[in-house]
This record gives sequence, structure tokens and C-alpha cells, in this order.
Amino acid sequence: MTNALFAQDALLPSGWAQNVLFQWDTHGLLTSVTTDTTGPAGAEVAAGPVIPGMPNLHSHAFQRAMAGLTEYLGDPQDSFWSWRKLMYQFAQKIDPDTLEAVARQLYTEMLKAGYTSVCEFHYVHHDVGGKPYANPAELSARLVKAASETGMGLTLLPVLYQHSGFGEKAPLPEQARFINNPDWMLNLLASLEQQHPAHTGLTYGVAPHSLRAVGPAALQYMQQHLHQQLPGAPIHIHIAEQTKEVDDCVTLTGQRPVAWLLDHLPVDERWCLVHATHLQPEETAAMAASQAIAGICATTEANLGDGIFDGVNYLQMGGRWGIGSDSHISVSMVEELRLFEYSQRLRDRRRNALATADHPNLAEYLYQSALAGGAQATGRPVNGLQTGQRADLLVLDAEHANLVHKPQHQLLAGLVFCQHNTTPIRDVMSGGKFVVKQQVHATESQTSTGYKAALKTLLDA
Ligand SMILES: [Zn+2]
Repeated sequence: MTNALFAQDALLPSGWAQNVLFQWDTHGLLTSVTTDTTGPAGAEVAAGPVIPGMPNLHSHAFQRAMAGLTEYLGDPQDSFWSWRKLMYQFAQKIDPDTLEAVARQLYTEMLKAGYTSVCEFHYVHHDVGGKPYANPAELSARLVKAASETGMGLTLLPVLYQHSGFGEKAPLPEQARFINNPDWMLNLLASLEQQHPAHTGLTYGVAPHSLRAVGPAALQYMQQHLHQQLPGAPIHIHIAEQTKEVDDCVTLTGQRPVAWLLDHLPVDERWCLVHATHLQPEETAAMAASQAIAGICATTEANLGDGIFDGVNYLQMGGRWGIGSDSHISVSMVEELRLFEYSQRLRDRRRNALATADHPNLAEYLYQSALAGGAQATGRPVNGLQTGQRADLLVLDAEHANLVHKPQHQLLAGLVFCQHNTTPIRDVMSGGKFVVKQQVHATESQTSTGYKAALKTLLDA
């Protein structure tokens, strides 16, 4: 039996099931998920418990090459803003070949870590002088290529970027590579659609960078025209990462960023609000009611000293959310989930902070919620192991020290809350194809060689 996998234990949207037979079509979409079957019936047999692959809803691929380069006190008031200066310097050095090599390394690492989809919030568009490349989609196309060749599901979100601050301030010289306007962006999307048509593993949306980088009129225009051109396409935005941007927004508009956005745009399930870190209780409630996704990037938010998202109240209100590795200081979905929970524990001095009476199994609740929210943010059919969704799955090593002898309902706690030197994620399937087997990605050695050469080029530049 081809395009079929049998798993003795598998985590479905309804919970754990036994003797499950998965079948999928040539597009990698599950055509049937049958529980309590009598046996493999000729299907390939999973080497351990099967869980769905996790979407990563926020990535700036080139920043992978910066990881570990900014942990040195330069400015006496070192902050997000001094980090951003260094990041801008680094962004000047990226060219199409280095971007592709870094993205290939990153997507390989993500797949091995259990991420089977990524939303690429991509803002370096032009050459070093700020001129569009001969193919304006050159850098976007390199991300598409890296994703397709590694087997990573991709939602490409080219970034609309116009200003250096609230009040439509002129861009800084170091932002020249990012700058564009809504019509340029709509043309870019049309050209990408033509060069690399969407399929189950690839889709497009747009990312207005932030309220500081895009003014109200452009934001309105962008979202209206986007939905004529690509109905239902996701829109992601950085929203309230830093208290300074909240203060600047209040000074200019009289409203905080999330309150302003919800009042002025039709924010709904197509939207993902990345770093909704600084919220007043009424914003938390309104955002939860909007059905937009909160994009939580706990390791980056900790690394940059952003602050702590009000997860406890947001989740209790039914708010939707997912995780992203953002600056890639860490590429570990279990670390993102764990740190999200631990940030709440440290602040509130209690345990199992995000669990609720209805969802006492914390690891399973976090995993299933981040999966559903992450899937919504991708705009692709990756919402767990059910018919019509992509065959994106992870095979766990049941003999791993953190999982061995544990009952089904404790397996995810062993995965998420125990961190030792090795991972229990054994095999990874993306769109019906195993891309990682026994913790080795099929092309990882050539990818690593290319990455090392690219990094040398970037560091020498
Ligand atoms: Zn970001």
C-alpha cells in the first residue's frame, strides 16, 4: 500500500488514538485517517508514536546567521533598539546566495525540530543600494527554493515597509533595502504567483511590518486590495513588542497599537498579531474575540527583553495563538512552548499556569492549541492529522529516556517539559514524504557545507 502509514499510537485532533491508518493523495493531503484498524495491511509502519508537525508562524530567515553575535554589552542601555542597529548592519550584507544558504540551513534545523511549516516575514527585498533586483522577487524566490528543496511548507509574507517611525517618518538609509509601497507589493505577489504557483506546500500573504512602518491609509489600501487579489490570504503584523512603540502610538493616535488596529481595520481570523506583548486587559479581551492569532515568540521575546504576554487571561478568554522562532536564537518548538508557560509561572509564581479546568493536561493543551492557531496563521491545510489536511507528522522515539514506559497521555509532557541532550523526535514527514529519518535530514550534509561558506562570507564582509 503506497501513500499510507500505520501508527500504533497517534495524536489526532480529538486526542490519542490507537492502530491508526493514515492515507494521503499525490498532493500530500490526508484522504483518510482510520482508527482501531486491525493492522498495517501493507502500509509502512511508524517507528513510534505519531504526532502532528508544528507550524512556525514567525521567521526572519536571514537572522539565523546572526544568532549568538549580539550577546555582548555594547550600549550601556542595551535593548531591542540597540540590537536592531546591529541587525540592520547584518541585513546589509545579505545577498541572494547567502540568503538561500542560510534559509536552507534554517529550514533543515526546523524540520528536525518538528516544525513542518513556516511563515516567512520577509522584509529584505532590494539590493544593497535599495534598488529592486532585475527580478524584484529575487530574494523571495530564494526562500521559496530553500523551502521547496528542504521539504518545508511555506507561507511567504513579503513585508510592506514605508516609514522609520509613527507619523510616517522618512525611512533611515539603513532601511533602504526594505522600502516599498502597496502597489509594488501587490505586483510582487502577482509575479510570485506566476513564477511559483501556490500549492499545498506553498502559499502567499502579506505582512505590513508594524504600525510604526506603515501608515493608516497604506494599511487600509493593502488589506482591501490583497483580498481582491488573494481572497483569504493571511496578514501578519508586528504589533506591540516594545513599550516605546506603544507610547509613540498613544502620542500620535491616542490609542495603544492593538486597540487602534482593532478599531480601524477588519481584524479577523486572517490576521496574525505578532508580539502582542503589551496589552491592557480590554485589548486582551478584544483581541481574543477577534479570532486573530497571537504570534508568540517566547525565546526571541526573552532574548530581546520585550516583556511577557498575558497568556493566562488570553487563553482563558479562548484567544487563539501559535508559536514562532522569529530571530532564531533558538529553533526548538518545545522550547517555545515551554518558555511561554514558564514566563507565566515566573510572573505569577504558580505552576501549570496556562492549563485550565477544561484542559488540565498542559503539554497536550499547549501543543494542540499552538498547532490549531499556527495552522490558521499559515493559511494552509496543516491543522493536525485529519482528512483534508496535509500529511505533516512527527514520529517519536518511544524508547527515548523522556518517553519510555510512559502512558499516551504523558508523552507530550515528556516531549515538551523535559529537555535533555537529545530529542525524542525521530522521523519527520512533510506533505506525505519523510524528509527526516532517524534524526537525519536527507540533504543536511550539503546544506551544512553551504551554510558554513555563506556564514564565512557574511562574517568577512
Ligand atoms: Zn519579527
